[in-house]
Amino acid sequence: MSLCWVALVVALLTVAGLSAEGASAQSPQESTSAIATIEVTVWRSTSNPSLLYLSTRPEEGDWATQDRALDMSHLSASGRFHQSSAVGVEVPLADGAKVAVEVTVWRSVSNPSLLYLSTRPEGGSWVTQDRPLDMLRVSSSGRFHQSRAVRLAVPLAEPLGASPDVEWLFAHGISSRRQSEIRQEMADIVMFVAQRFGASASGFTVSVGSDDPGWSIPAFMATTASFWDAAHEYFHVVQSELAGGGPKGPHWLVEGSATYAEEAYDGDLEFRRAIAPAAASHIASIRETESADWVRLNYHLGFLAVDWLVGHAGERSLLQYYRFLPDHDRWEAAFEAAFGLTIDEFYERFEEHRTRVAPPLPHLMDDTVAPVAAFVGNVPERVRSQIQAEMNDVHAFLVERFGAEGTEYSIYVGADWENVAEHHRRLSMNLWWDDRIRSHSLPLPWAPSCLSGATGWVVHVTSCGYSLGHSVYINSHLRVLLEEKEQLDLPPLWMEAGAGAYITLAYAAPVDDELSWHRAVVQRSDVPLVQLATTDGWEAAEGIERLALSTVAVDWLLWRAGELALFDYFRLLPQGTLGLPSLDVTAASAFEEAFGLTLDEFYGHFDDYRSTLTDD
Ligand SMILES: [Zn+2]
Repeated sequence: MSLCWVALVVALLTVAGLSAEGASAQSPQESTSAIATIEVTVWRSTSNPSLLYLSTRPEEGDWATQDRALDMSHLSASGRFHQSSAVGVEVPLADGAKVAVEVTVWRSVSNPSLLYLSTRPEGGSWVTQDRPLDMLRVSSSGRFHQSRAVRLAVPLAEPLGASPDVEWLFAHGISSRRQSEIRQEMADIVMFVAQRFGASASGFTVSVGSDDPGWSIPAFMATTASFWDAAHEYFHVVQSELAGGGPKGPHWLVEGSATYAEEAYDGDLEFRRAIAPAAASHIASIRETESADWVRLNYHLGFLAVDWLVGHAGERSLLQYYRFLPDHDRWEAAFEAAFGLTIDEFYERFEEHRTRVAPPLPHLMDDTVAPVAAFVGNVPERVRSQIQAEMNDVHAFLVERFGAEGTEYSIYVGADWENVAEHHRRLSMNLWWDDRIRSHSLPLPWAPSCLSGATGWVVHVTSCGYSLGHSVYINSHLRVLLEEKEQLDLPPLWMEAGAGAYITLAYAAPVDDELSWHRAVVQRSDVPLVQLATTDGWEAAEGIERLALSTVAVDWLLWRAGELALFDYFRLLPQGTLGLPSLDVTAASAFEEAFGLTLDEFYGHFDDYRSTLTDD
């Protein structure tokens, strides 16, 4: 089953105009890496020593001098140096290709006469000369001090690893044609990651179309229909190998960089930039996701953070970090070496960036567990206090009368659409990492709306002329509790609609006063309640029947078991997996425990009860 990749990858490397030497070697250490040599000289104005200029040239090439003084405003993470803007030098290689090298100047804060040079290959990490420049020489015009020309050898991209040994485990029934397509795609992925991110894995197992992850580690599974997650999983294999199997640091970086690589491979970076902010807004601080259990959200905030890091230090810095891990006691030190800033400085700068692209929802930013209304634009004080008061009141009602867990969500209330359009656009993007829209075009379509929302947020426009009702707050509360259980809805399907409607009635008046209308609809309907447990059955029924049946069913259950049973049921629900269908089987035992009868027994009782309803 084992396939050696050497021949295939060598062929591809040759086509791509790269050296095939690295690929044919048996271990990554034997690979060679190219060197680009440049020469640099620094000019410092004698009349105004704060003005620095750089001249650069590729070895044997022509000198080029920047006509503008270097921007020295950036303070290094340690606070000990000002670092200049980077200057790029294009270096021709022997094979006719060109490679970019960057140069930067560091100036000591305590002693500004001390200047140092750093270089890096494009996307690589800075390497700083350990001696300050000799600036004693004065130029012939007398207007500048000029350093001696410094010759700098810059190692280019890290050597590519040997082509991986891949163990393939294909499930039965996958045609040999499909198998070879998948192998080809894997070869493309390995090639892509090597060229773009500068490393390869030495070997791994891919299990296609079966639940068997294979016996050897590292390994990953893929499905036959879509092989798109293979780039993501392969990137994890490379991360692990470079890190030497040890701890890899924060989850957001592990998942964010794999997601970045996956989107880069698919050509979908822009798409991910559009959808990631919605999910990222549900996290208060990226520090929380260093070790968050709920890794799902790390993909989005992690992607945005990695996207920022790439802008700061280049794509190759991502795997450089994993390569540095074994040589550092703490991941934070490897982080600083790879990305050129400390983790604390990064967090500070990223959170600042985040307030523009994916600000955290307001309820995450206080210490209380309560819903928060954020008002944007000219919303009258009277409306503001009314909305916040009713939200608090509904929250207290759910907690005190029904024994619900307290919870929180945010409502953006804008005077006009323009006030909240940006929040609406950002938040209404698809939240879940596995909901991918492959046939998209950017910008994604969205339309003005008076009231919209999903789990954790609502956007409302007051100029639409109607006020938010308490059912919005009740349903928001239920949605957040379900999300905490990682359930898509409250099973069976009629339960969630019925619970929301029942509590909405109970908040306004004694429930019995309001139920006669619902009972009359139920009495006339011939839809069995059990039909509303499935999506197909739910959609086949009329809206009015759905609402009435669901509400009367929940009323009967709570009459029998007591109102507190409803949120006992929430608590007893198994932890689900968002994105998968509701887990009706395991929810059944929670139902029985909370309400004191099985779901089948309940359907029987409910039918009996229905037959007692009369027209009067
Ligand atoms: Zn992953």
